[in-house]
Amino acid sequence: MNYDVVVIGGGIGGLTAAIRSSELGKKVAIIEKDELGGECLNRACIPSKTLIDAVKLVSKTTKSNWISGKVEIDYDRLGVFKNEIIKNVKNSFTSVLKKYNIDVIKGQASVKREGEVEVNGKVITTDMMVIATGSEPLSLADFPLNGRNVVDPWTAMNLPSLPNNIIIVGGGVAGVELATLFRAMNKNVTIIELMPRLLPVPGIDIEVANEVKKRLEEKGVKIYLNTKSKIVKSDDKVVFTTQTPSSTEEVKGDLAVITIGRKPVTNGIDLKAIKVDSDQRGYIKVDNKARTSNPKVYAVGDVAGVPLSATKAWRQGIIAGDNIGGKNTEMPKYIPSSIFADLEIGVVGQTAEELKKAGIDAREIKVLMREIPRAWTLNEPEGFLKVYVDSEGKILGANMVGEGATEVINTLALAMELSLKLSDLYKVQFSHPTISEVITEISQRGIYGEIY
Ligand SMILES: Cc1cc2nc3c(=O)[nH]c(=O)nc-3n(C[C@H](O)[C@H](O)[C@H](O)COP(=O)(O)OP(=O)(O)OC[C@H]3O[C@@H](n4cnc5c(N)ncnc54)[C@H](O)[C@@H]3O)c2cc1C
Repeated sequence: MNYDVVVIGGGIGGLTAAIRSSELGKKVAIIEKDELGGECLNRACIPSKTLIDAVKLVSKTTKSNWISGKVEIDYDRLGVFKNEIIKNVKNSFTSVLKKYNIDVIKGQASVKREGEVEVNGKVITTDMMVIATGSEPLSLADFPLNGRNVVDPWTAMNLPSLPNNIIIVGGGVAGVELATLFRAMNKNVTIIELMPRLLPVPGIDIEVANEVKKRLEEKGVKIYLNTKSKIVKSDDKVVFTTQTPSSTEEVKGDLAVITIGRKPVTNGIDLKAIKVDSDQRGYIKVDNKARTSNPKVYAVGDVAGVPLSATKAWRQGIIAGDNIGGKNTEMPKYIPSSIFADLEIGVVGQTAEELKKAGIDAREIKVLMREIPRAWTLNEPEGFLKVYVDSEGKILGANMVGEGATEVINTLALAMELSLKLSDLYKVQFSHPTISEVITEISQRGIYGEIY
């Protein structure tokens, strides 16, 4: 046997699975056909947040009338900065892999039999296997990708120059983040969303979605909701037909960015032959320990189904590594998610609507960000935090839109994972003036009601 564990795919899920298995004493190899860090580090979370943070810095300065002078982005230098960040994070992963003596094999892995992985014409034998091959954009019949003017998000972010009129198909997380980015770059941006609301994503409250819509529209983004669409031409212009319940319209742009539709990557891996079950869409079925139907095979990250997030992939890799290494751990009950729109969003657990559908009685407590002094000093007093609690004050879900939401939500995830009640949070003092004080205010208000 060459290895105790072979991990296929060096994205976030594969890296954490490899590192954790090795930490627990296993002899590990990780096989990556492209770049370590996968989608998140090279093409998604890290580069997109670098660009979004940069444009947000500019919007913040332009809305601060006590800052004078023209602030502009030098996109060439920003591109260099972005690549530098990717390199630094990758180097840090590479040094951890080295420290744990994990063999990194560059090449495309294929699997035909349990316990064997073929790469670069050689067969490697292994006791355990972790499939961490991720997901990729799907070219849909109504929105066929052509790599030129109908593209996926990553291609769009890497075009040498962006045209003026950009149409984004899908008002989900990626659609909203890209609209934020492109609008801040002074492009005319249109979002076309099939559902009657923006961000039709589990866990995101309708009021949060409406707040984001308002803010994007104030910035000049055109948003079509409840709209069926289809690309009918993509020569020099991309032409869509759009249909709402009451009207049809032709919408034209220079570039269409398709943010909907992904599929798991399992080509070359014969799931049937290794007795690993998948669902109708091809995602590998796993339990809360990342185990597949074959006890010798684990699957983590996007290839193991929703949520398709690096947050989940990271943890699922650790859980797979733990269990392979003999530690009996499970996925957390709550996986928070963050959206880096013009106003940040952080969500965890269920929304009021979802709780109601599930027959769970919940009380909503809301604090406006304008009630938090730090939101004013940051010149960002818009937004709110809402939490939903049961009759004993146990938190069942939280939705925040506003400055710092992507950080505050982690504290609430911690409280929920530990089954803390409002009365527990009330005992904790947060420092002043900080955005986290919104949690103190929520607990105060949940217990004693509004005092102002
Ligand atoms: C625009 C955008 C922004 C995003 N932003 C965020 C965010 O802010 N936060 C967040 O949590 N998530 C975000 N995501 C989602 C996140 O990128 C993915 O959920 C995450 O990358 C999944 O990690 P993974 O390890 O499962 O797969 P991947 O990152 O896809 O890695 C899989 C790796 O496997 C390799 N591979 C595949 N097949 C083989 C094979 N046969 N042999 C060898 N190697 C193979 C691939 O080359 C790849 O490197 C974003 C996604 C997009 C598109």
